[in-house]
Parts: sequence; C-alpha cells; structure tokens
Amino acid sequence: MTTAAIFNIQRFSIHDGPGIRTTVFFKGCPLRCLWCANPESRKTVPEPLYMKKKCAGCGTCISACPEHALQFSEGTVIRDPRICKNCLRCAEACPVEAMTVQGKTWDLEALLAEVKKDKDFYDSSGGGVTLSGGEPLLQHRFVNEFLQALREEGIHSTMETSGFQKPEIFAEVLKNLDFLYIDCKHPDSEIHRQLTGQPNEPVLQNIAQAVRAGIPMEVRIPVIPGCNDSEETARRFSEVLLSAGVREVQLLPFHQLGKAKWEGMFMPYALEEAKALRNEDLTDFAACLEKGGLSVLVGSAAG
Ligand code: SF4
Ligand code: SF4
Repeated sequence: MTTAAIFNIQRFSIHDGPGIRTTVFFKGCPLRCLWCANPESRKTVPEPLYMKKKCAGCGTCISACPEHALQFSEGTVIRDPRICKNCLRCAEACPVEAMTVQGKTWDLEALLAEVKKDKDFYDSSGGGVTLSGGEPLLQHRFVNEFLQALREEGIHSTMETSGFQKPEIFAEVLKNLDFLYIDCKHPDSEIHRQLTGQPNEPVLQNIAQAVRAGIPMEVRIPVIPGCNDSEETARRFSEVLLSAGVREVQLLPFHQLGKAKWEGMFMPYALEEAKALRNEDLTDFAACLEKGGLSVLVGSAAG
C-alpha cells in the first residue's frame, strides 16, 4: 500500500487556494531555502520540534533522552545534534506538547477519509484540498493516487510546489491537478543553488510545461531582502518567466514567521538580520517586473 509522510493537516484554510480548503503538508523537500517557513518539513522522517514558548521547564524530556543529547541552557532546552539518534522519546514524554513529533505516516484511504470530513464546506465555498509541504512532488506516487482519488470524489485540488522534480514526473501529476501554485525563487541557476541548494533549470522547465498544458496556475516569487530583490534580478525574472510563457506573477513578501521553528529544530536561522516586508515595500520591485512585461499581484506571505 502506498503511504506518505505528512507533518500537518490544516482544516478550514482560506489562504491556500479558492474557497475553504484542507491543506495537507507533505514532509520531505529536496530544497534547502534559507527563508523556509517550515524547516520541520525538510526530512521525510518524523523528528522532534521544540517550541520554547510552550515549555514548562519541567525537564521530563531531558530525563527521557537515553543518549543524554538534551540539556537546559539559559532556561531553554537545547539538543546536541551529534548525539541525538532521533528516537523521539523526548517528544513522547513532554507533558505539555512543547516538544512534539513532527511527521506521521498516512495511507491513502485514511487521508481521503480525513479530507472528506469537510466536503460540505468545499462544496458550499468553491473550495477543496491543497497539497503543500515540504515538497509534495517528492512523494509523487502517493500524490498521483491522492489526486486521482480527489477527482473521483469531485473534490477540487490545488498544489503548492517548488517545481523541483523531473519533467516526466511533473507531467503525470499535472494530469489530475485542478490548480497549481509554483515558485520561481531566483532567475539565475547558480544563485538559485546558493539560496536553495538546487539549480533552477527543472523549475523553469516545469513552469513552461504547466503553461503549455493550460492548467490554471499562479507563479509566485518569494521576495527575500538581499537574496532576490534587486532591480537587476527583477529584470532577469521577467526575461526567464516570459520565455517560459508566464504573463503574471504573484509576489510573496518575506516574513520571519518560521524563525521559532528553526530554533525549535536547533538549526541556525540565516535570515536573522533580514527585515520582514510589507506589501507596500514591494512597489519598486513590482514596477521593475511590470516594466519587463509581467503583470504583478502583490500579497500573501512567503513560505
Ligand atoms: S530524539 Fe534525540 S534528543 Fe530526543 S530523546 Fe531521542 S536521542 Fe534524545
Ligand atoms: S519541552 Fe516539555 S518535557 Fe521538555 S522541559 Fe519543556 S515542558 Fe518539560
């Protein structure tokens, strides 16, 4: 039976596509974006996540760790990643869910039953189910079966993706998808690699493929200060996206909402100094893209 690693299922979402939606967050991602809002989604395996704000300071997790990988430092729990064996006992022991297990295996039948609970809301609002992550395309076999099942149930599907996957695999996924959000994070492949750990050629190929397939879609640019927000970068975005057949982009202003989770995964947060952006901060950048020939929507939050 095909199964998937999923780290969150969010009901009654109103920002992940049309109408009222259930958003399914797939765990595992081939990219390592510096600004990632869900760093707990990087690996497919379940992992502990520590949220300092919820911690009661009881020390139960520290006693539960067989490897002695945890300790208190300045009132907060810290973990030594060199020692941690990812056994999850700390998260299972925490009495207040400050340390939690991120990631669970779902089979198709159970996931379908879960998302069907809100079918009445989808039907009355023009909503449906959104596949997000992490990167849903990493678990494409399950995703294909899930999308097919949603279509058979008459449930609208949307996917939020980095587009980083082989074009032939992406083509299969497009067959059963109703709406696509796909990111373009940097127009220059080498800088894309520096920012995300991967080149951008597969992404641009897949954007062009989706345009040719005629699927309703939105190309999104997460605008990150100092990474991809210069005038020259805007000019290059316009060039590469127009040649991929794109006519309109949505800009997602940078935020630091994922910062606490980086701390909770005990990983250094590279964008500590970067300023969160408001929609109005993107006016000049949007004007450059428009000058380059693209229509621009500004809004929502970068993920
Ligand atoms: S997951 Fe790591 S820190 Fe937590 S109990 Fe296991 S070894 Fe210790
Ligand atoms: S994370 Fe949980 S178990 Fe650990 S000290 Fe905080 S409240 Fe106690």
